Amino acid sequence: MLKIGCHLSIAKGLKKAGKDIVSIGGNTFQFFSRNPQGFKQKEYDEKDYLAYLKVAEDNNLVPPLVHAPYTLNCASKDERVRELAKMILEADFKRMALYNYPLYNLHPGAHTGQGVEVGVQLVADSLNATVSADYKGTILLELMAGKGSDLGRNFGEIKAILERLNYPEKFGVCLDTCHVFAAGYDIVNDLDGVLALLDKEIGLDKLKALHLNDSKMPFASYKDRHAALGEGYIGLETFYKIINHPLLKDLPMYLETPHDDLAGYAKEICLLKEHYNA
Ligand code: FE
Ligand code: FE
Ligand code: ZN
Repeated sequence: MLKIGCHLSIAKGLKKAGKDIVSIGGNTFQFFSRNPQGFKQKEYDEKDYLAYLKVAEDNNLVPPLVHAPYTLNCASKDERVRELAKMILEADFKRMALYNYPLYNLHPGAHTGQGVEVGVQLVADSLNATVSADYKGTILLELMAGKGSDLGRNFGEIKAILERLNYPEKFGVCLDTCHVFAAGYDIVNDLDGVLALLDKEIGLDKLKALHLNDSKMPFASYKDRHAALGEGYIGLETFYKIINHPLLKDLPMYLETPHDDLAGYAKEICLLKEHYNA
């Protein structure tokens, strides 16, 4: 069974998001743990959560992927920004445990001029300070496109962070197709080669989720501009290869494509399901 969904707002509750994803043919979704601007978080709403669980059970939904606010930066040269990031991570990890969510996705951060070495260590320090021995979920580091001073622009930088963690077994990676393509990994012409490299540097067992996005920018442009599937430089054939690849076909996959309404995602989910053979 293809595990497919898209990024959704939970402003109107989890139950509504669950119903929305079912209405467009998906079986999982991603949402922000809190507003990326201002970091505001919804109050814990047990009634809504229980109603969502019922929708999930009735429709065989796969647990959602929770995305950290992308504005949070564990590697900033500004100590106040780093402290804020730690506070937010700590609160988010508590919330993850409360809801029993398995997967939390995080952009590693940006070193803001301090260099990769310092940045990588700061990210590891923040995660070591906030992830406790009893944390049950898995935190995914997302591979980035390589713009500005973003960390995680290649497999080596992700590996360097993982190597510095106290509990590496509580961490994994999320592969964003737009980001890796922009970062210079040729998933269009050599998907097997890219996966072999990922296996060698990080380990394929660490790969826990995919973000499916086409790229408005060409190969190795180091720019992060998502396009609808088939409307960018990656192209539909590559997405059909990805969803059916023996090493990827069982992973949960999330669209973060630019659409104004659910209909755009519905079309993409329908196309992907039609081309899923496994
Ligand atoms: Fe992301
Ligand atoms: Fe992404
Ligand atoms: Zn992106």
